[in-house]
Amino acid sequence: MTPLAAVRERIARTAAIARRKAGDVTLIAISKTHPAEAILPLIGEGQRVFGENRVQEADGKWPALQEAHPDIELHLVGQLQSNKAEEAVRRFDCIHSLDRSSLLTALAKAMDKTGRRVPLFVQVNIGDEPQKGGCAIGELPALLDEARTADLPVIGLMCVPPAGIEAAPFFALLAKLADDHGLAGRSMGMSDDFETAVMLGATHIRVGSALFGARG
Ligand SMILES: *Cc1c(COP(=O)(O)O)cnc(C)c1O
Repeated sequence: MTPLAAVRERIARTAAIARRKAGDVTLIAISKTHPAEAILPLIGEGQRVFGENRVQEADGKWPALQEAHPDIELHLVGQLQSNKAEEAVRRFDCIHSLDRSSLLTALAKAMDKTGRRVPLFVQVNIGDEPQKGGCAIGELPALLDEARTADLPVIGLMCVPPAGIEAAPFFALLAKLADDHGLAGRSMGMSDDFETAVMLGATHIRVGSALFGARG
């Protein structure tokens, strides 16, 4: 079995236990650091949703792949500088890292300019870690209000829980925050914990090393 087939099977098995439809969970294959040669076999197996964490890396790697496969959906899952907002809006079909007011303004401007409406997740600093990206939980209501006022297409919340401890409470908290704000999307779960995330309502899981092997 290929790594992709194995991950798909684990999603299906977990979804069945959770009485969810596997089709309600979008698997984003995180291809950062991996070259096109590593990506092509997954495309061959029918995978169409991919993620990168750097605008520049995606700009180098994806134009040719996107041209050959126009149905590919490319997601940005890494921190985004405001001065790269326009590039990001042109390159990506979904952005998971809206986390502050200045970036919100830059994304609104970029969407106006390009005429592209790119769905957004607000990244939440779910473990309240000083070094991590993401909006503080206390600042989430204001940021979501601002997004609504700017008519930005926010579809959900995203988190990267603290490393080295059980992720489930953080996934549950993200799901609750999404519920509280009437947002359907929950981008949570990576190679080590995507089954837990699926159990707790993830709609988008971001899986890298389980599909591509360890990053160098
Ligand atoms: C790299 C990355 C992932 C994938 O991590 P793996 O542990 O390799 O599955 C998911 N989300 C974000 C934000 C990442 O940067």
